[in-house]
Amino acid sequence: MNTDRRNFLQTIGGTLVACRSASFLPLALLCLATVPPLSRSQETGSLKTHVNSQRLQGTLEKLSEFGRNPEGGVTRIGYSETDMAARKYVIELMKSAGLEIRIDAAGNIFGRRAGSEKLPILLFGSHIDSVMHGGNFDGDVGSMGGIEVIRAMNDGKVKTRHPLEVVIWTNEEGNHFGLGTLGSGVAAGLLGSEILERKDEQGLTLADWLRRYGQDPSHLTDARIPPGALAGFLELHIEQGPYLDEKKVPIGVVQGIVGLKRWKCLTTGFANHAGTTPMNRRRDALAAASEDVLAVREVVRAETGRQVGTVGYMKAEPGAINVIPGRAEFPVELRDLDTAKIERLWERIQARFKQIDKEESVETHCELLEENAPARSEAAIQNAIRDAAESLGLATMDLPSAAVQDSQQIAKIAPMGMIFVPSRDGISHSPKEFSSWQDIANGAEVLYRVVLLLDDRLNRN
Ligand SMILES: [Zn+2]
Repeated sequence: MNTDRRNFLQTIGGTLVACRSASFLPLALLCLATVPPLSRSQETGSLKTHVNSQRLQGTLEKLSEFGRNPEGGVTRIGYSETDMAARKYVIELMKSAGLEIRIDAAGNIFGRRAGSEKLPILLFGSHIDSVMHGGNFDGDVGSMGGIEVIRAMNDGKVKTRHPLEVVIWTNEEGNHFGLGTLGSGVAAGLLGSEILERKDEQGLTLADWLRRYGQDPSHLTDARIPPGALAGFLELHIEQGPYLDEKKVPIGVVQGIVGLKRWKCLTTGFANHAGTTPMNRRRDALAAASEDVLAVREVVRAETGRQVGTVGYMKAEPGAINVIPGRAEFPVELRDLDTAKIERLWERIQARFKQIDKEESVETHCELLEENAPARSEAAIQNAIRDAAESLGLATMDLPSAAVQDSQQIAKIAPMGMIFVPSRDGISHSPKEFSSWQDIANGAEVLYRVVLLLDDRLNRN
């Protein structure tokens, strides 16, 4: 038996994950063979990897040309000419990887690779749109990484039981139409035809843009993925935060995507003459609201954990240099993986606001603007990510995603899991966003292995 044939079995963590061999041998026969320990490349003795890191780097570099900014990074807003051009490139790439292309009514791109059994789809991918003056890694890594996984499987003539699909979700960042995770939101059935008449700054509606993308907006809801259609969804993504880089851990196992709650608060005092009103007789809404801002920070910092709380802006009225502000408006946003913690923090914040109101003779009222429940990653997928990383000798860290993700939406219709790779200095949504080619290759190889692990583990009766 030659090396190639001897290598036909690949195991990860002692589990048979795939039968790799020249395709003329009957697959079922090969799969009956006993399971050897971790496969190591015969030539070098090092752990054998499947994805081609140079090829992956090449596709990421090519993608970075679409919407490139002089200061580095890209501006590639969802539903734009630049996005359209990048999509063309990506569709060609997917076709050349042998994928069968389907574009749904929201503009999400799917590329399918057939499986050997009649099973639900194992879906993986990310998004290629960016924020204004964004970087080259957010979304791009998981999109090109997903296609590289398919190319690596083609190289190794790997067959899977489940059909595999790579997806490129549309308008994840939501810079256009103010609707983030738009494509995945439609696919998950959370957004429908009510969004079609939203207008952008040029006066074009989402329906107009869908037509430009070759879609029929009246069929938007056809993009909904029916229940049971997906065996699971996997997303490889940059962390966009500091934890992996700081601890020099190459792979993050995402426990879930944090939930958030947003309130709009209005503090009412009394607008009066800045010269003639004595300091002890003022009802200064801006001064009181400023204390509220600091109270939010103190309460959130007082507990251990990764919860975050932010006051993003403040508006004071009447807004004159010689008038004591009578009104101040500010939002409060809290995020955590645990809804109960968000509630607990909010109760404490409100108690502090009441106290400050009393001291400053003002009144503060807050109304809930928006609420997003946390999305938990599937335990079985988290385990598969740990096993895959371990099989490569890569350390892992469990952590939540503090950023909004397409995975959050898809978690509502399928088991979901995310693989994070480090972001240098935790910087993202910036031209300075950076992940090393090695970290990206590690992430793609882990994705490759997780796909095969899940293909083996899921839907066994
Ligand atoms: Zn992203």
